Amino acid sequence: MLPVSKAVFHALAASKGMKTLASRYGLRTERSFARRFVAGESVADAIAAARRIEAARMSQTLDFLGESVATMAEADRATRAYLATMNEIAAAGIGRNVSLKLTQLGLTVDRATCVDNLRRILDGATPHGFFVRIDMEDSRYTQVTFDIFETLWQQGYRNAGVVVQSCLPRSLEDVQRMNALGARVRLVKGAYREPRRVAYQAKAQVDAAFIEIMQVLLTGGIHPAIATHDPAMIDATRAFARERAIPADRYEFQMLYGVRRDLQAQLSAQGYGMRIYIPFGREWFPYFMRRLGERPANVVFVVRSLVRERGAPSA
Ligand SMILES: Cc1cc2nc3c(=O)[nH]c(=O)nc-3n(C[C@H](O)[C@H](O)[C@H](O)COP(=O)(O)OP(=O)(O)OC[C@H]3O[C@@H](n4cnc5c(N)ncnc54)[C@H](O)[C@@H]3O)c2cc1C
Repeated sequence: MLPVSKAVFHALAASKGMKTLASRYGLRTERSFARRFVAGESVADAIAAARRIEAARMSQTLDFLGESVATMAEADRATRAYLATMNEIAAAGIGRNVSLKLTQLGLTVDRATCVDNLRRILDGATPHGFFVRIDMEDSRYTQVTFDIFETLWQQGYRNAGVVVQSCLPRSLEDVQRMNALGARVRLVKGAYREPRRVAYQAKAQVDAAFIEIMQVLLTGGIHPAIATHDPAMIDATRAFARERAIPADRYEFQMLYGVRRDLQAQLSAQGYGMRIYIPFGREWFPYFMRRLGERPANVVFVVRSLVRERGAPSA
């Protein structure tokens, strides 16, 4: 069964009042509570975080936060923001890798325009050598996300990749299809609250599927990304790679900005590729709430930061 805490955080994430309140304080200063997981509101904040990550010999992908836009004007704004972000990344000379969500580009408003928006971004990305990762959202969008990705792949766009979630039983087939195409896949457990009819509910099932898909990716995938903070999943990946003599440069680990920084540094020091997913922008609230839902102990961290901030002299 889904832990109650995760359900509570998903409900809070939908609350407009909470969002308004949190948005006012979350990123206000360098020490505000959301800064642990979100680099800041501006591209400059994200680029500064990326430089710190790269100085520690890790790589990064930047995510301009936003999802479920309700109008084509918002989708167009997000598309232009991605194009501008890529220009700034190129000018800054940092690694060229971004992550985005299709509902941010208007998927729920008008599918054809969303595809056009994605094409605009991929066209902007190609000459600069960017890689564009299409994040996977909740299961209402799984099929359409693969459909759009595969359509663009057939049209010759090769600078993009997808995400599969081990909580969905369908993912094994999806990953086999992606391997056959030669498309790059990021493997995750899945961040959304999903109904029993489409998703495993028990952690043991999600973990077993993660390991099975990881093996399919390591043996038949193109530079797969194993995205997890779970030491058991990481150990299983390293053990499997060792057993099959798969060198560490054939795949990479990925983790979220601010999560298990100790493990990020440790794996990187051991010579594993480690890419950090750096989110930034004003629309950070749903992302932030998903992180709290994954680990309610983070709430203690947030409360501590709030108390500390209230006690600090105001600037
Ligand atoms: C780079 C990256 C990209 C992602 N992209 C997507 C995507 O496109 N679609 C999607 O649905 N999901 C995505 N996710 C989220 C993913 O699905 C999980 O929700 C998330 O990674 C937590 O699962 P876990 O594998 O880390 O293991 P869990 O089983 O959740 O946790 C294992 C251990 O990891 C640590 N940990 C996990 N989360 C946290 C946290 N928030 N704070 C502190 N410690 C923590 C704890 O020690 C915990 O015991 C992404 C995750 C990463 C790392």
